Amino acid sequence: MYDLGYSRPATLAEALELLQQDDMAQPLSGGQTLMPVLRARLAAPSQLVDIARLDELRQIRPIDGGIEIGAGMTHAEVAAHPVVRAALTALAALAGGIGDAQIRHRGTIGGSIANNDPAACYPSAVLALGARVQTNLRILDAEAFFAGMFATALEPGEIVTAVRFPACAEACYLKFRNPASRFALVGVFAARLGSEHRIAITGGGNGVFRWHAAEQHLDRGADIDSLDAVPLDLANFTGDIHGSAEYRLHIAKVITRRALMQMAGQLT
Ligand SMILES: Cc1cc2nc3c(=O)[nH]c(=O)nc-3n(C[C@H](O)[C@H](O)[C@H](O)COP(=O)(O)OP(=O)(O)OC[C@H]3O[C@@H](n4cnc5c(N)ncnc54)[C@H](O)[C@@H]3O)c2cc1C
Repeated sequence: MYDLGYSRPATLAEALELLQQDDMAQPLSGGQTLMPVLRARLAAPSQLVDIARLDELRQIRPIDGGIEIGAGMTHAEVAAHPVVRAALTALAALAGGIGDAQIRHRGTIGGSIANNDPAACYPSAVLALGARVQTNLRILDAEAFFAGMFATALEPGEIVTAVRFPACAEACYLKFRNPASRFALVGVFAARLGSEHRIAITGGGNGVFRWHAAEQHLDRGADIDSLDAVPLDLANFTGDIHGSAEYRLHIAKVITRRALMQMAGQLT
């Protein structure tokens, strides 16, 4: 291992000061992505600023008819939290289906969306539900936060502090798992917010995106079964050893339909 500083500040203000003083410093949350990246020498920060235990990032509370989840909450905590389970059952289920027990007990929602892995689960929920991302500097709409594969609108020294979700009873996340990692080969988060349908797809390869044509089709009252005919751009998908772009597109259509049927109570 190369020379690397490590600090565990006691407050968010101290953490931000450390990050702002040093351009090469990087926040460490659950370490479930960052540690393997460091081990593979794909990044070389000067120091890690451990933000995983900061009280300011570790709360879940109801706000304005929705829920605010602190960036430091682990996937297991989100999955088990009574407020999330009551107001956003689909989000609790998504968190409970991430990786394995170690990933769920260490990995955090803030780390997941800041990393924006094209196969990660949370970004699809954030985008489909129109959640807002709170940082130490500003509040960003989901659409403005995600900026393509492994990219976000975060500036150097800026960290995610919380994510604000609207409550939504009609939502469902389904993923077709990579059986080894349990990342999404393709994942679909479907939601209905009032009369508006929202469908976000992850795992395509280029980063999370919304299937607008399907949303508009459903908003016009179309039948779930007619979704097959709705265009879904192949350019949103890439191929790799796990599946071709065409295969991923096909899976996306199939699980979108299943997610919508589950939402409508037609599938259990
Ligand atoms: C085997 C395996 C299986 C997995 N399966 C899944 C899966 O099924 N679904 C899924 O969604 N994910 C999966 N993951 C990813 C997992 O959810 C990680 O927890 C997540 O990607 C990163 O969260 P973390 O808290 O560990 O972040 P870290 O690894 O600590 O950090 C990741 C990146 O985000 C930055 N960062 C961390 N916190 C913040 C913050 N608050 N603000 C700004 N930047 C921050 C770090 O500097 C780093 O660049 C899997 C990972 C592994 C190794």
